[in-house]
Amino acid sequence: MGRSFRFVILGGGVSAGYAALEFVRLGIPAGDLCIITDEAVAPYERPALSKGFLLPEGAVRLPAFHTCVGVGAERLTARWYKEHGIELLLNTQVVSVDLKRQTLLTSAKETIAYLMLIVATGARVLRLEEFGVTGADARNIFYLRNLHDATKLVEAMQSCSGGKAVVIGGGYIGMECAAALVSNGVHVTMVFPESHCIARLFTPQIATFYEDYYTRKGVVFVKGTVMSTFESDKDGKVAAVVLKDGTRLPADLVVVGVGIRPNTTLLEGQLIMEKGGIKVNGKMRTSNSTVYAVGDVAAFPLKMYGDVRRLEHVDHARKSAAHAVESIMHPERAKDYDYLPYFYSRVFSLSWQFFGDNSGECLLFGDLKSEKFGAYWVDRGRLVGAFLEGGSKSEYAALAVVARKRPMVEDVQLLAGQGIKFALAL
Ligand code: FAD
Ligand code: NDP
Repeated sequence: MGRSFRFVILGGGVSAGYAALEFVRLGIPAGDLCIITDEAVAPYERPALSKGFLLPEGAVRLPAFHTCVGVGAERLTARWYKEHGIELLLNTQVVSVDLKRQTLLTSAKETIAYLMLIVATGARVLRLEEFGVTGADARNIFYLRNLHDATKLVEAMQSCSGGKAVVIGGGYIGMECAAALVSNGVHVTMVFPESHCIARLFTPQIATFYEDYYTRKGVVFVKGTVMSTFESDKDGKVAAVVLKDGTRLPADLVVVGVGIRPNTTLLEGQLIMEKGGIKVNGKMRTSNSTVYAVGDVAAFPLKMYGDVRRLEHVDHARKSAAHAVESIMHPERAKDYDYLPYFYSRVFSLSWQFFGDNSGECLLFGDLKSEKFGAYWVDRGRLVGAFLEGGSKSEYAALAVVARKRPMVEDVQLLAGQGIKFALAL
């Protein structure tokens, strides 16, 4: 029999880092907590990997972006975990979980027992092989989920200046990586099946602003289609991406961002699943009372909208982790998780934030030409979502307030005319 801990966090990403800080804040004794991660470093702010980490100059490197610097809190290096008596098992994959025995088995064949488990396994990238694409294991095809991937991408970008990249996928990874590639002097063509970028959030009008901006930076968009095959050279490297209609796009490197799948495999058949993730209640507790789930992997009740969602964004990872820890440590005072969805991105000199829900009618406001514009979503007479590009700190704070309050809107044209002033006046 191996070691035993009061609390074990399975996974060492964003949620794990924020959970650890919350445990320490709430005063756990040394020796109570163990974090197990297959990554080689202490938890870090994953969003940095597609932004500051990829910059051609002044790029950020660890230890600068360990959690929890993303909210201006302490930077938790490996030393911090040691000083607080937290066992941080790096380079250790958990290969099975036995919820009945309350044990985990690691790749090093150690059995670790727990009283309370927090599942924070995040997600894995969807690979092109899963769409039936052959030759997708070539060494100049890059995905981006962890530090290892980002390090390989940086090396490839730096040796490819002046060369050509094809970016497959028009979501968050695709858009942020395309911007980084351009900044590193690489010519970019983006290919994706939808009619516009970031289709999960943007309306066609919002997307047009970003696509036009990227086009001025030299990015070529090929929309509404998917790739069919890779053309390889004699070294087994991709030389070109061939699309469904036969178009051939020469490529020195390929970056793929076609979505993710939550890492739930170890818990399947043992916990109730929903929306592709692990179902939790408002305390982040799963169908097993000794197991909690947080971050990308958790399907949780979104109180504001009365439905269940799984969100793949960092703010939820941070807050759900802290909420689970509070629920575990102080069940008597913990309320139900009452989350306001918050997403953001930064590319080139642009920066946007979104709060709430993008359902119903979308009303654009502001001036797209001046790179200062926004949008409100109005659903069944209520303002439910708010978006702003190029906002100030106080304007973004006002957006969060308006999205939380969900005021009734009597005149949508008046609302569009008032724009950000409406949120600021609330
Ligand atoms: P993760 O941070 O992915 O952590 C999961 C951890 O568990 C990983 O360390 C993984 O290796 C480990 N693990 C999994 N299975 C096992 C196992 N069996 N054994 C041991 N360890 C295991 N969101 C935003 O809102 N804004 C952004 O700008 C933004 N940028 C992003 C940029 C990139 C490049 C990526 C990949 C994501 C970005 N996100 C962003 C999303 C955000 O980072 C995630 O929502 C967040 O990291 C989820 O936190 P998590 O703890 O659930 O999972
Ligand atoms: P997204 O889900 O954002 O986007 C994936 C995109 O790829 C979708 O537009 C999808 O289209 C498209 N796609 C699917 N299949 C194919 C295909 N065969 N060929 C071409 N395109 C295809 O995922 P990402 O991979 O961009 O991001 C991964 C994760 O990282 C997400 O959880 C995301 O939230 C997170 N992330 C968040 C950031 C942020 O919040 N700023 C930044 C970076 C990452 P369709 O919708 O039709 O399936």
